[in-house]
Amino acid sequence: MQPAAPAPLTHLTNADLHCHSAVSDGTLAPRVVAERAKAHGVQLWALTDHDEVGGQREALQAAHELGLDCLTGVEISVTFAGVTVHIVGLGFDHEDKTLVRGLAATRGGREARAREMSDELARVGIRGAFEGALKYVGNPELISRTHFARYIVETGACSDTHEVFRRFLADGKPGYVPHRWARLGDAVQWITQAGGIAVIAHPGRYPFSPTAEYALFSEFVAHGGRGVEVITGAHTVADQARYAAMAEEFGLLASRGSDFHAPGESRIELGSLPDLPGRLAPVWMALADRVQRA
Ligand code: AMP
Ligand code: MN
Ligand code: MN
Ligand code: MN
Repeated sequence: MQPAAPAPLTHLTNADLHCHSAVSDGTLAPRVVAERAKAHGVQLWALTDHDEVGGQREALQAAHELGLDCLTGVEISVTFAGVTVHIVGLGFDHEDKTLVRGLAATRGGREARAREMSDELARVGIRGAFEGALKYVGNPELISRTHFARYIVETGACSDTHEVFRRFLADGKPGYVPHRWARLGDAVQWITQAGGIAVIAHPGRYPFSPTAEYALFSEFVAHGGRGVEVITGAHTVADQARYAAMAEEFGLLASRGSDFHAPGESRIELGSLPDLPGRLAPVWMALADRVQRA
């Protein structure tokens, strides 16, 4: 008997195109994230580790074995107008040399920044944070604030990672060390020249004025960016409406992703998201020929 033909991609496909594994600041191996996505009804999945494509091979292999449609993914840290902005890339060649080199350069400053964060945290009474955070790191090149947050919860200073960010790690708090990430134009270019589509991640999370936000969207489009996350774990219903309108205004494709990091830690489970508003064009329809079909 022939295996069942894959379900056609539609507007209502349960797409989850934003999540993390232990290759960046998630806690599960790529394969385990794939299994969890499948178990929660995801039909089209992308693993989008921060600044790193080292988990893509395992993700694609696991998705194939599970019968889960899959796109390649990444989430690139960018500095725009002094603010850290995340750009998701989808459907690119994950072995593309320009992309791989650009991501390696973006990861480069993380260790020095982490040591500085640790020194700053020691001043407010949190000792041994660098070594403590390292215990939670799956990829030594990718030590992130999330790993510090898990360690600070372990010390008992805070009861969960959200409290840690609020008190210690958000911009302006004692353990926050400003960092210069990739340039917007470079990140969009790395993704695009590798055959993918660049997407503005969780736009509702940035502390931009309406003017600065307009500048972000305008420059993103001018650099060849084509998508925006409208439905994400970080968005309120008001954010969903705002960025649906922005997608229409800027002619952007709409994306959908949970930003899942770890069981019990992430607010939203894999695949458990509202549908995209019907009038928007889903980014996955534009990437149909880049999907690894189950
Ligand atoms: P980094 O790339 O080291 O600056 O770390 C950024 C990561 O910290 C994000 O990708 C999230 O996983 C996490 N993060 C940022 N803000 C918060 C927050 N308010 N609550 C929980 N996690 C957060
Ligand atoms: Mn993260
Ligand atoms: Mn992000
Ligand atoms: Mn993310």
